[in-house]
Amino acid sequence: MSLATTSDPVTEVPKKLFISGHWTSAGDGAEMAVDNPATGEKLCSVADAGPEDGQRAVDAAVAAQPGWGATAPRERSDILRRAYELILSRVDELAMLMTLEMGKPLDAARGEVSYAAEFFRWFSEEAVRIGGDYALLPSGRSRQLILRQPVGPCLLITPWNFPLAMGTRKIGPAVAAGCTMVLKPAPQTPLCSLALAAVLAEAGLPDGVLNVITTSRAGGVVEPLLRGGHIRKLSFTGSTAVGRILLAQSADAVLRTSLELGGNAPLLVFPDADLDVAVEGAFAAKMRNMGEACTAANRLFVHDDIYDEFAGRLSDRLAALTVGPGTEPGTEVGPLIDDVGRRKVRDLVQDAVDQGADVLTGGTLPDGPGFFYPPTVLSGVTPGSKILHTEVFGPVAPLIRFHDEQAVLRAANSTEFGLVGYVFTQDLRRALRVSEALEVGMVGLNTGVVSDPAAPFGGVKQSGLGREGGRVGIDEFLETKYIATPA
Ligand code: NAP
Repeated sequence: MSLATTSDPVTEVPKKLFISGHWTSAGDGAEMAVDNPATGEKLCSVADAGPEDGQRAVDAAVAAQPGWGATAPRERSDILRRAYELILSRVDELAMLMTLEMGKPLDAARGEVSYAAEFFRWFSEEAVRIGGDYALLPSGRSRQLILRQPVGPCLLITPWNFPLAMGTRKIGPAVAAGCTMVLKPAPQTPLCSLALAAVLAEAGLPDGVLNVITTSRAGGVVEPLLRGGHIRKLSFTGSTAVGRILLAQSADAVLRTSLELGGNAPLLVFPDADLDVAVEGAFAAKMRNMGEACTAANRLFVHDDIYDEFAGRLSDRLAALTVGPGTEPGTEVGPLIDDVGRRKVRDLVQDAVDQGADVLTGGTLPDGPGFFYPPTVLSGVTPGSKILHTEVFGPVAPLIRFHDEQAVLRAANSTEFGLVGYVFTQDLRRALRVSEALEVGMVGLNTGVVSDPAAPFGGVKQSGLGREGGRVGIDEFLETKYIATPA
């Protein structure tokens, strides 16, 4: 299958499970529907794996591990590099697939395809730089050799909000490290992962190294795999609630775990901020992916001195956006993923308004098909409002006034989440002081974008364990072995 020449990527993408290099139906023949969130209509069906299919996929990964773990780093690097180039040669087809199954506008989808490909380029470069060590111990009586070896077969579970990049951010370092894997994408967006499997096979990835199972029965399929003793590592991206369940299930077999979980990002605008930069930064931090991002600014704290001007400018910026199906030219804001997601956003806004917030723009559900929600700014959100304590996952910016640096830091940190925070100020001492005091894994300092394949992405507190990307990303898929020998 080649996505290079087709005008209908949905027709061309394989709809089956990918196990040991073969496209195969679910053992019980089950299929599940994939819907288009812009219309609410079905796009196609894909295989719906059951527990036995999950076990088949793990068996394939386990069988492939010894051979794959022994390949030359340069060979693994070259495969990732070829996959990077193949993805870039198919940006338009992959972007269309993403827009159809997930909803984001085509321009944003093209951006995600390039971002996703970058993880393969970055980890193709890291694959050949896995180091070791050799040293005389302080006693002088023995030497140590330190090796980095692949962890072994991994289970990778991804969410729907970045259908391609969340996969490549895990597959890239796993391939580079010499691990085999089973990927379970979210049921809303299986097509990008199936297309990715086809690309990696074309790039020369040996059979069994990457296996993909699509399923609507995640709990029943995944739990026995985590407890079964064959998988050596879980790498999960998704909600904190599900992360906690999977962490508990991983305890039986004492699995290595990497968890990229939810966020509730504070964004702080101080009175000395450059307001042009702050408004654009808040816009980017809020509106990337229609607000359906773990990095989305969820609580915008704005200093009293500039509050009214900032609120007006941000409202004007959001009110001017074009909402519509992501496939239509000019669309800047697509639909949310499904009706459950849209109702959650609507209810959070209603609760905030009931508790005293003013709607500066948006806030009303449009008529017609699809799961659209308008870009919305809420002013004067009160501390008890649910929207300040829940991941919104929609295009809603809740604004809160503040006067005092220490008080706003306490408010910003009063959450179980700790993924990212954003700070806007031109005072260098304040910038560093506040960045250090925020309880987060990442800070956007005068910027609303932190994600980059070359940077260590991840959170503290209940936003997760471990980091993806950057120099440390490959460490999540490597074990350290120490060999002692007499001097
Ligand atoms: P989710 O409901 O937690 O699901 C994530 C994945 O886990 C899906 O593939 C899902 O499949 C699977 N899953 C759910 N319950 C499971 C279970 N009991 N056993 C095995 N697998 C299970 O999250 P989502 O709604 O897809 O994605 C949004 C969340 O992801 C947000 O909280 C967001 O902050 C987070 N996220 C975090 C990052 C980060 O890097 N920190 C990046 C992106 C997204 P099913 O839907 O079939 O259950």
